[in-house]
Amino acid sequence: MNHPLKGKKNGRCNRTACQAPLEDDANWSMHDYMTGGRLYYCTPCARKFTEADFRFREPIRCSIIEGDAS
Ligand SMILES: [Zn+2]
Repeated sequence: MNHPLKGKKNGRCNRTACQAPLEDDANWSMHDYMTGGRLYYCTPCARKFTEADFRFREPIRCSIIEGDAS
């Protein structure tokens, strides 16, 4: 089941297995190549993506963009 706010800023984490609430969390996000927008993730999921990116020597996908920093 996908939450209607899945992947949205201050909505729910975009990882289907997670979908944690993002309110009061950092606004980690990555570029959404499908729409050109951003997809949002909770901090633990953002860390997991970053760890995997390091491991596979890929560019870091999750970041906090300037407009979302609070
Ligand atoms: Zn998550």
